[in-house]
Amino acid sequence: MSTIRPTACVIGAGFGGIALAIRLQTAGFDVTLLEKRDKPGGRAYVYEDQGFVFDAGPTVITDPSALEELFANAGRRLADYVELLPVSPFYRLAWESGYAFDYVNDQAELDRQIGLKSPADVEGYRRFLAYSKAVFEEGYLKLGAVPFLHFRDMVKAGPQLAKLQAWRSVYSIVSKFIKDDELRQAFSFHSLLVGGNPFATSSIYALIHALERTWGVWFPKGGTGALVRGMVRLFEDLGGTIRVNAEVDAIETRDGRARAVVTRDGWRGEFDAVASNGDVVHTYGHLLRDDPRGKQMAKSLAGKRFSMSLFVVYFGLKRHQPQIQHHTVLFGPRYRALIDDIFNRETLADDFSLYLHSPCATDPSLAPPGAGSYYVLAPVPHLGTAPLDWDRQAPLYEKRILDYVEKRCMPGLREDLVTVRSFTPQDFRTELNAHLGSAFSLEPILTQSAWFRPHNRDDRIPNLYIVGAGTHPGAGVPGVVGSAKATAGLMIADAGLAVGQAA
Ligand SMILES: Cc1cc2nc3c(=O)[nH]c(=O)nc-3n(C[C@H](O)[C@H](O)[C@H](O)COP(=O)(O)OP(=O)(O)OC[C@H]3O[C@@H](n4cnc5c(N)ncnc54)[C@H](O)[C@@H]3O)c2cc1C
Repeated sequence: MSTIRPTACVIGAGFGGIALAIRLQTAGFDVTLLEKRDKPGGRAYVYEDQGFVFDAGPTVITDPSALEELFANAGRRLADYVELLPVSPFYRLAWESGYAFDYVNDQAELDRQIGLKSPADVEGYRRFLAYSKAVFEEGYLKLGAVPFLHFRDMVKAGPQLAKLQAWRSVYSIVSKFIKDDELRQAFSFHSLLVGGNPFATSSIYALIHALERTWGVWFPKGGTGALVRGMVRLFEDLGGTIRVNAEVDAIETRDGRARAVVTRDGWRGEFDAVASNGDVVHTYGHLLRDDPRGKQMAKSLAGKRFSMSLFVVYFGLKRHQPQIQHHTVLFGPRYRALIDDIFNRETLADDFSLYLHSPCATDPSLAPPGAGSYYVLAPVPHLGTAPLDWDRQAPLYEKRILDYVEKRCMPGLREDLVTVRSFTPQDFRTELNAHLGSAFSLEPILTQSAWFRPHNRDDRIPNLYIVGAGTHPGAGVPGVVGSAKATAGLMIADAGLAVGQAA
């Protein structure tokens, strides 16, 4: 048997790219991971300023078992690389009316809060949870890390999808069980966390609720960036190579196969297999621009619907505000109408619903002593829906948001402000090569899920693979870590290797 290890290039060091690189290196590939930016993490980039540490993206870490399995598959322990701290409440959900709901992982406490608000919904919530668990078992446990390459895979899943009424929206399913308006919002907003409109996204995404109830909500000690660094350390411990500031400009193909990868600075490497964790439109439309398959897929993707974008303001205060929970959702005056504006309207709405992150509530080391790091994000239309000039818009919008947050729940915010920066849909496009500045890639609607999503292995170029939010199962850290497992399974089988640790 040959002792030469097959080579693989993974383009992009987001959670999906790093997880894939770890699995491939574990199985016996010689892996090179190329990242455009100066640090790995992708949407989970880290900004630092004057002792404040800001995780740029994911902050709600769910399904730690998927991360533990990734490390165990490599013969290591997650706990030796990063410590995960439990977060409770999972979220504080707050409305302008003054009503607040602490979403905790304690049935009796949930019953108590729901009963106070709407006694009839206590039973309704239990039925919703049972529904969510059924979808979770079917859609996540069974199919979350399995590639959908053939239409027959979809047909096989069909009866279950029909039984679970997957054609209905998340909001419609929640409303079937729960009557109170604010509680309906509380149990339906989750699909926004993976870029889905609760009024259009398939009810299979209601599984997020059961996923959180099953495994809890966690936060890495040192921030999400510490998890990224832990995963990169594992990859390097396994002998993998990562290069940052290495933006790939082209994937070269010959005789129907991917042959080489060329970076913007002129470096060229030949590989047995190539996987892209970059945006799918960027991958097909730009990196494969010289191949007919690239052109064909770019054309087909242009007709798809993409998830909304986000406007994120990172700010550091000289005094930490302990009344703010780790995760807070500040619902605005409108729900359905605002979401409709975000997904369909050409301008920014006057009101907003916000997510506020206060990591120092769990880990004070992320700011100087006594101080607090925060971010606040507003879902906004992507650049295709609202082609706004964000250079002009950003300072105004940032001020509006900070004024609103100060008034609503963080008195003295302006006075205590030490540092502030924002990230716009335009930044998603330029920094992350994200099509239309979308924050979560293709919108997770039924007709763009599973087999209908770009496949984990390209249908025509047999050694070209996709990993991350743009392929099955989709966005979110558990989603892209699952996509890495699905893609790795294909790559490892195609190379004739075994899935576990190489000898
Ligand atoms: C603000 C925000 C908050 C979020 N909060 C949560 C949360 O709390 N919980 C959760 O589970 N999910 C959350 N998400 C979603 C989650 O972060 C993403 O779905 C997930 O991280 C995407 O991972 P990915 O593997 O698709 O890669 P990405 O993070 O998209 O990374 C892709 C990488 O590819 C690189 N790249 C692109 N083109 C090239 C090229 N040509 N050459 C080299 N490199 C290239 C990019 O620079 C990037 O580093 C959030 C997202 C955002 C934006």
